[in-house]
Amino acid sequence: MTNEKEQNWNLDNSYTKLPAIYYSIISPNPVSSPQIVKLNKTLATSLGLNVEELQGEEGIEVLAGNETPESGASLAQAYAGHQFGGFTMLGDGRALLIGEQLTPAGERFDLQLKGSGRTPYSRGGDGRAALGPMLREYIISEAMHALGIPTTRSLAVISTGESVFRETELPGAILTRVAASHLRFGTFQYGANWGKVEDLKELADYALNRHYSHVEKGENPYLTLLEEVIKRHASLIAKWQLVGFIHGVMNTDNMTISGETIDYGPCAFMNEYDPETVFSSIDTQGRYSYGNQPGIGGWNLARFAEALLPLLHEEEEKALELAQGAMEKYPELYHQNWLSGMRGKLGLFRQEKDDESLVENLLVMMHKYKADYTNTFRLLTIDKAEETVLYGNEEFTEWYKRWKTRLENQEEGKEAALNLMRQHNPFVIPRNHLVEEALEAAVEKEDYTVMDELLAVLSDPFNYSLEKEKYCSLPVPSSRPYQTYCGT
Ligand code: AMP
Ligand code: MG
Repeated sequence: MTNEKEQNWNLDNSYTKLPAIYYSIISPNPVSSPQIVKLNKTLATSLGLNVEELQGEEGIEVLAGNETPESGASLAQAYAGHQFGGFTMLGDGRALLIGEQLTPAGERFDLQLKGSGRTPYSRGGDGRAALGPMLREYIISEAMHALGIPTTRSLAVISTGESVFRETELPGAILTRVAASHLRFGTFQYGANWGKVEDLKELADYALNRHYSHVEKGENPYLTLLEEVIKRHASLIAKWQLVGFIHGVMNTDNMTISGETIDYGPCAFMNEYDPETVFSSIDTQGRYSYGNQPGIGGWNLARFAEALLPLLHEEEEKALELAQGAMEKYPELYHQNWLSGMRGKLGLFRQEKDDESLVENLLVMMHKYKADYTNTFRLLTIDKAEETVLYGNEEFTEWYKRWKTRLENQEEGKEAALNLMRQHNPFVIPRNHLVEEALEAAVEKEDYTVMDELLAVLSDPFNYSLEKEKYCSLPVPSSRPYQTYCGT
């Protein structure tokens, strides 16, 4: 490659030092006429990449998977996973890891092309992706990042100039995904099922070194790994609940060891508060509904713990005891994270006995009166309770008095409480109808201005500015519920 240096690729390939069972080296699956439709310049710069060169012809060749930088590799990762409860062999069926970029700040990030063609793990799939869903991932993952939620990020979207066929013919695209790593619970399940104990151990050592090198290991480093992953997921899922994010496909192959949100397929944000909310077309039983997410998080962690058993202790019974001891802490850890976030959302500085009932009573009313989750908290934050649908109900009046009394009794004062609320209650979220509008303009009309404006607003979600109020509007009621799709 002629100008690889100018693009500033600084790739390492630590993953290729793992046992060969964990990946397959792939030769490129070129696309005919790639064009860049979206580049995340801020992210590119923080990765140490040269924005100008990346947008040039040769930069686009890399982002399209037509050429791999010399310092990089080109591999698909193997993994397994429980999908809707059933265990199966998976792997990157349409993704290519091109290497780990070492940034000027000394960090290491996987760069992965999604939609880059078939691999040995593609099963019946075409290995490709459509433009709409890749732009959707770009918008929502960047919004999640701005909301302060650990997540993979989106560097670029390339249109391939080729069609993909789903129910109809659609324009094809490739997304460049940036992640702390792509290690999944499913990577460990794969190692435990298809590798030797030595292979599993190498994977665990790799994960510890890559994500938990700063943590004191104690005498059982693999127990530490389990405990740390539990902590990160207790925190991550609490953050999802606090902003009303519904992941939609919490299979164990979509749960990361780093604690980042990954796989923006059927995800969506809740409007009206209802724990049973599900958007995914295939989640007919509501397994991954909003209210089930914390519990499913625990179920997934238990599958990860099972995969680690052979490393926890040589005697199976002792290993089980250790795993159970660690798992028992998850519900309380999750709950603490959630409650402390809820305190922030209500402007409460200190813990009191009735905090939980204060929160629960509000949520019960929101459910009963079909209140919009984000807007209710936003309106309380800007002191406009009268605009919520709860206003005027006796039970709300009572709750409101109780809450206000609580705020008045805080020595920090009212202004500080409102400030705290402004930091916890986003003014805007990527509402489904707004995302759809942006995608329609981009995909149907090649007009990216709507998406760019939306991205700008979503990049600063805690900025309480009145001119952004149109982004708080609710969808027009529809007879057809909003639905999302997997693997699109
Ligand atoms: P997901 O539901 O996105 O987690 O995908 C589950 C598995 O299906 C992963 O191993 C993907 O790589 C694979 N997959 C999804 N879409 C395709 C596709 N179009 N071609 C090949 N594999 C795919
Ligand atoms: Mg996935």
